[in-house]
Amino acid sequence: MTKDMLNFTVGPVMSSEAVRAIGQEQVPYFRTAEFSATMKENEQLMKKFTKAPEGSRVVFITGSGTASMEATVMNVFTPEDRVLVVNGGSFGHRFVQLCEIHDIPHTEIKLDMGCKLTAEHLSPYEGQHYTGLLVNLDETSTGVLYDIKLISDFCHRNGIFLVVDSISSFLADPFDMEQLGVDVMITGSQKALACPPGISVIVLAPNAVERVCGREVKTMYFNLKDALKNGERGQTPFTPAVGILRQINARLREIDEAGGVESENRRIAHLAADFRSKISGMPFTIVSQSLSNAVTPLHPLNASAYDIFLCLKDEYGIWVCPNGGDMADKVFRVGHLGALTTDDNTTLVNALKDMQRRGLL
Ligand SMILES: *Cc1c(COP(=O)(O)O)cnc(C)c1O
Repeated sequence: MTKDMLNFTVGPVMSSEAVRAIGQEQVPYFRTAEFSATMKENEQLMKKFTKAPEGSRVVFITGSGTASMEATVMNVFTPEDRVLVVNGGSFGHRFVQLCEIHDIPHTEIKLDMGCKLTAEHLSPYEGQHYTGLLVNLDETSTGVLYDIKLISDFCHRNGIFLVVDSISSFLADPFDMEQLGVDVMITGSQKALACPPGISVIVLAPNAVERVCGREVKTMYFNLKDALKNGERGQTPFTPAVGILRQINARLREIDEAGGVESENRRIAHLAADFRSKISGMPFTIVSQSLSNAVTPLHPLNASAYDIFLCLKDEYGIWVCPNGGDMADKVFRVGHLGALTTDDNTTLVNALKDMQRRGLL
């Protein structure tokens, strides 16, 4: 039933042939030198693509993106910290909830839907002895890409430990961990990595490795010190999603061979620009003040966003990404991640134009 669906959501997204072929294979035993070599290569390519500083380490968590968000909050902050959380949508809100659950003192910088972060939002916190900042580089729920240079300069000036959830932005938008002084970067398998969901990735700069190793945490599965120790020999403390890690390996190599992170960046940026130009003049407004290449958030002027999602799914074989909660009728999103082409964009735009002819848009 889902076989021929064209998928414009923000995850899971469509995978390449090579990645899908691995999904059909038997899952191998993993306490072997061969699997360790795959994991070592995964770590090396992740460091290369995030431009992580020398001495950085990478942890692969079996769990969705939120698992790595939670593991990070638990392992790098304590009740002695004071953390700022940029909250511009549902993923920012998730960091707020994680701070609440784990008793991390925090202050929310709340932004209206679709609004970008400006220097004025940060200035009240200048010189206020905050120790950490949590931000979702692309707030995927509203498609707002924050100004990471602004955030990074603020953190640098104030000696603040910077955690960036790049789950949907990784590979889609330019990012340089070393240059930006980012301490922790998080991503997941089902966004631009275009693999099945189930693995999330934490890249730790040396400063973060030191912080993790210097503290005790009350958790078994999310103990990053333990994960780092096992990772030294290309292993994980517990049985990981072996198949997905092999798919991630194929995908990272595919990107490397096709010209690396810059060329993947350009490919996604081109797809996003192509889609945005093809819908110009149609009855939509784009709701983000600062767009990521990953996703285009659209507000339909004459129809319910959720009805558009249902109609595209049921009558045209196309998935776009619905929004939840009070945005469900107002906004839907078109993702530009995964194995999509400009011809696929045309197929989606033609479907929307057909709906317009039918008076459904
Ligand atoms: C997808 C996403 C997540 C993770 O969500 P999971 O469902 O736990 O994988 C977190 N943050 C952002 C910005 C995302 O886009």
